[in-house]
Amino acid sequence: MSGEDCDYLFKAVLVGDAAVGKSNLLWRIAGGEFRLDSKPTIGVEFAYRDVKVGGSLVKAQLWDTAGQERFRAITSSYYRGALGALLVYDITRQATFDSATKWLREMRQFGSGEMVIILVGNKSDLQHAREVPAEDGRRLAEQEGLCFMETSALTNSNVEDAFMAMVTRILEATV
Ligand code: GDP
Ligand code: MG
Repeated sequence: MSGEDCDYLFKAVLVGDAAVGKSNLLWRIAGGEFRLDSKPTIGVEFAYRDVKVGGSLVKAQLWDTAGQERFRAITSSYYRGALGALLVYDITRQATFDSATKWLREMRQFGSGEMVIILVGNKSDLQHAREVPAEDGRRLAEQEGLCFMETSALTNSNVEDAFMAMVTRILEATV
């Protein structure tokens, strides 16, 4: 499906601290396999995912940070034009959840006010190592008007749901 063949083409970004699983979520969404050996700096700049929603053909262009978050080097151009975002933290590391509010502030500063943001608590397969209760994620999402979901890029649990929640909300806002 080329750009001309789809009804909607939009940009979405992955945001969050280093090593929360952004690149693996992107690979999953784009149809790839989980990478146990993924390196922080290895990653594509972006990947495409085509999806049919209702009668519409949608092409999502998903941007990855490719490790820039470690240097706080995500720039305004990363957010420019993005209609959606997956704001990711790691449920086994409280600090990554605490950072979510910082990322949110940055997204609202540099991104569009209408950006659809899904708060994603990733690594839900690691229940024994959980530091962030699901309730905390839910509460933050409620306070900030976001959608909330826990995912596992490893088991591919809820990943498609999180992506589709974002896509359908973007379409609702667009159509
Ligand atoms: P990024 O820095 O946010 O892009 O994170 P990566 O996708 O590179 O993942 C960082 C590390 O976490 C890697 O070792 C992955 O294998 C691991 N990882 C990512 N997602 C999951 C997950 O859902 N479950 C588990 N157990 N490990 C994960
Ligand atoms: Mg990465």
